[in-house]
Amino acid sequence: MPSFVGHFTSPLATRIARVLPPRLLVAGLVASMLPDLDTIGALFGVERDTLFAHRGITHSFAFALVVAGIAMLGSNWLQVSRPRAGLFVLACALSHPLLDLLTNGGPGVMIGWPLSDARVFAPWRPIEVSPLGVGFFSARGLTVVASELVWIVTPSLLIAFAARRRATQ
Ligand SMILES: [Zn+2]
Repeated sequence: MPSFVGHFTSPLATRIARVLPPRLLVAGLVASMLPDLDTIGALFGVERDTLFAHRGITHSFAFALVVAGIAMLGSNWLQVSRPRAGLFVLACALSHPLLDLLTNGGPGVMIGWPLSDARVFAPWRPIEVSPLGVGFFSARGLTVVASELVWIVTPSLLIAFAARRRATQ
């Protein structure tokens, strides 16, 4: 996976481009990291490359749709319309496996589940894979953040500021 820096970029860049209710932003931040809850499976003996292992079903388009559906049900609390809650949270939840597809390590991403159990990567994988847990706070972690600044943060900020500028003109 990219680190939390990379995964938080999508909701935060959207916040730069558009005004978002704080609760919706928090929902987007949670949705952008939610797929990696599957990392706790290793603590409970979940075997690698199974449905519930890392980058399994929580990294699927179907899972992102379920998360978006929950956001739609909570749209009143999120202080936005149902479509806006669903679309924003869907984009944030889906950004996670899409970014994971672009990493150069870790298991493949089960993005097509339940239609396919295949674990896949994008043909082009420029993003350094992040070490899990405390391993992030190491020299390797700095390499990961540098990679994410180049491939995720900088392009996202450029797009966000351009969109914001366009919206205010
Ligand atoms: Zn992930």
